[in-house]
Amino acid sequence: MEMIATRLQAIRSELPPEVRLLAVSKYYPAEAVRAAYDAGQRCFGESRWRELLTKRETLPDDIEWHYIGHLQRGNVKYIAPFVQLIHAIDTPRLLAEVSHQAQRCQRTIRCLLQLHVAEEETKFGFSVDDAEAYLSSGEWRALPGVQLAGVMCMASHTDDTQRIRRDFRRAYDFFRHARNTYFPGDDAFSIRSWGMSGDYPIAIEEGSNMVRIGSAIFSE
Ligand SMILES: *Cc1c(COP(=O)(O)O)cnc(C)c1O
Repeated sequence: MEMIATRLQAIRSELPPEVRLLAVSKYYPAEAVRAAYDAGQRCFGESRWRELLTKRETLPDDIEWHYIGHLQRGNVKYIAPFVQLIHAIDTPRLLAEVSHQAQRCQRTIRCLLQLHVAEEETKFGFSVDDAEAYLSSGEWRALPGVQLAGVMCMASHTDDTQRIRRDFRRAYDFFRHARNTYFPGDDAFSIRSWGMSGDYPIAIEEGSNMVRIGSAIFSE
């Protein structure tokens, strides 16, 4: 646990000031979150709703919880009362459900569109073409419970750094296009969530302003 503060410090010192660090605590125990909290970290990412609810019970209230994993529509209701940002919106129906549950809690929930830019077939997310079609449909404008706040992606799982760079670049190109076309003058559409333990330096070079780092902070 002592390592956690040291590692957090080291990672923070590498990040430019405009890049936020999300500590990905999924699969790590509440004591690990507590150690990071004591070292000043306040934003944590989880990807299982049950695990998130359990941890939240024992941890301080001023933690900002982000949901980063694939989310099934039937589970939105469990996190809607408190979640600060949902990173992985991968279908129009999921976004509609988040809006519905947010309204039931009298909240607005910030959400990111997950783009599928990696070479693997199995990953979730909108293709660039589908994301464009969805934004141009304007359907999302009729969802009062959500605020689209940017784009999230995962790069290909590979050692080929050129490929990783290309994936992030596609996400950034889409982000810029979407901001200029659909959110002109709207500062809320600003988040570029990409970069994990293995690739965050490249992600930052390619426009990320929110890195999601788990194992580099928490693993033994
Ligand atoms: C687990 C996970 C991360 C963190 O991955 P590490 O390699 O442990 O840094 C980031 N984003 C998502 C969506 C994840 O599921």
